[in-house]
Amino acid sequence: MRDRLFIDGQWVVPAEGGTFPVIDPATEETIFNAPAGTARDIDHAVRAARRAFDQGPWRKLTGKERAGFLRRIAEIILSRKDELARIEVRDNGKPLPEAIWDMEDTAGCFNFYAGLAEELDENPEEKIALAEPRFSAKVVRDPIGVAGAIIPWNYPLLMASWKVAPALAAGCTMVLKPSELTPLTALELGAIVEEAGLPPGVLNIVTGLGADAGQPLAEHPGIDKLAFTGSVPTGAKIMATAARDIKNVSLELGGKSPFVVFADSDLDKAVEWIMFGIFWNQGQVCSATSRVLVEESLYPKLLERLVEEAAKIRIGNGLAEGTLLGPLVSKGQYEKVLAAIERGEKEGATIAGGGKRPAGLNTGYFLEPTILTDMAEDSFVWKEEIFGPVVCVKPFRNEEDAIRLANDSRFGLAAAIMSKDRARCERVAKAFRAGIVWINCSQPTFPEAPWGGYKQSGIGRELGRWGLSNYLETKQITAFESDEPWGWYLTD
Ligand code: NAD
Repeated sequence: MRDRLFIDGQWVVPAEGGTFPVIDPATEETIFNAPAGTARDIDHAVRAARRAFDQGPWRKLTGKERAGFLRRIAEIILSRKDELARIEVRDNGKPLPEAIWDMEDTAGCFNFYAGLAEELDENPEEKIALAEPRFSAKVVRDPIGVAGAIIPWNYPLLMASWKVAPALAAGCTMVLKPSELTPLTALELGAIVEEAGLPPGVLNIVTGLGADAGQPLAEHPGIDKLAFTGSVPTGAKIMATAARDIKNVSLELGGKSPFVVFADSDLDKAVEWIMFGIFWNQGQVCSATSRVLVEESLYPKLLERLVEEAAKIRIGNGLAEGTLLGPLVSKGQYEKVLAAIERGEKEGATIAGGGKRPAGLNTGYFLEPTILTDMAEDSFVWKEEIFGPVVCVKPFRNEEDAIRLANDSRFGLAAAIMSKDRARCERVAKAFRAGIVWINCSQPTFPEAPWGGYKQSGIGRELGRWGLSNYLETKQITAFESDEPWGWYLTD
């Protein structure tokens, strides 16, 4: 594990010399003391990134050349995937097979953006048709400059790749600030890009607390673009900070996503996708389908089966064979989720399954997969993101009722529908006010497709070509093509 920051291609001790503890959520033991970067380190990193952008070779390379680095990074990640996954399990708590899948997705993200970097070479400019015949116009895309990335703890390296890969593909340089709860694989990424031969200063990694390292990054005048994933309150703060000097901002925030299940659905498939939609990664997924709406006639049977299957999920240390549900990421998150369940009960919800620490697991931030019912439409648990393995299940009368309930949220990240009637699926998919819609499934995510939310779930889109656009400026180049004078001032 790395105990230094990665700045300008060097491993440096934080300017103030501090550290913060990294805790294994399955054992509650401190496994490492990570370097605590502060404003001085952020300044050092931003200056390095600035220099690498303004004077370095990076943005002058062809897309194909940059793609070579991205592919090399992907290769190294894959060659170290088991080791990186194990680090992430100890850092975050997730089951090992999920962490391995995350590493494969991370490599996939770098490879995908390698392809888009090459496409930039193939389509360097786009001609624009003007109604005015004396002029010609074209559009070229320029890297936006130095990007600051601030990311959460739920998919530590994968969330980094969603920002680092498109930024590097575009020709930007970057300062990455991972979550203080899961800094370990981000530091490994420093070693990976070093091994890949990335020029110094192109990617800088500063671990540290939100207030001490994240805030100075958001404030730094040397940053052209801020890309943030995290909670709504922090996103709002970052947006306000960015407003001071009109920084370009993209935000991926929270969700309270609905999963609408019609009565014609296959019961087994419905139960499996509902569980995948909320218990995967301990429910610590921004797009988790945490509100399940079930057509009245199927509701009793589905609820019974869901409670029965959820109780069978094997809970334990993410490194133990067969674990399907690990601990929550931290004590703070654990207490927050328990408090939400308690509040749900106080406000009239019934705990149909789970709701407490599993028997025999006395250490670690473990919680049974939890199913809540009978909650009011205006209750906390129905309205607010819990970010844990807690699903609220509610019956609905008809399609109209389902759409109304699904869209009645300040969030709009994702939504899912299940039915054998494909026309109905398409209709409901269009009616959802959400940026990501799944039909007959929940959660599968692909680097080719745009990711992001409506309403308070964020601004902008990551992944796909939309993710690349976050790091590109659009420049029009217009030329006067006529031999005739312009004829405005010199009219004689
Ligand atoms: P958080 O907002 O607490 O922290 C996110 C990051 O912001 C961390 O790196 C943190 O150190 C930093 N930070 C905290 N205060 C800051 C400040 N004042 N200035 C700058 N940076 C600061 O969120 P979290 O608890 O790490 O993550 C959970 C949240 O992230 C959930 O709400 C979840 O929905 C959301 N999330 C969204 C997506 C998405 O794609 N939409 C993906 C994953 C997580």
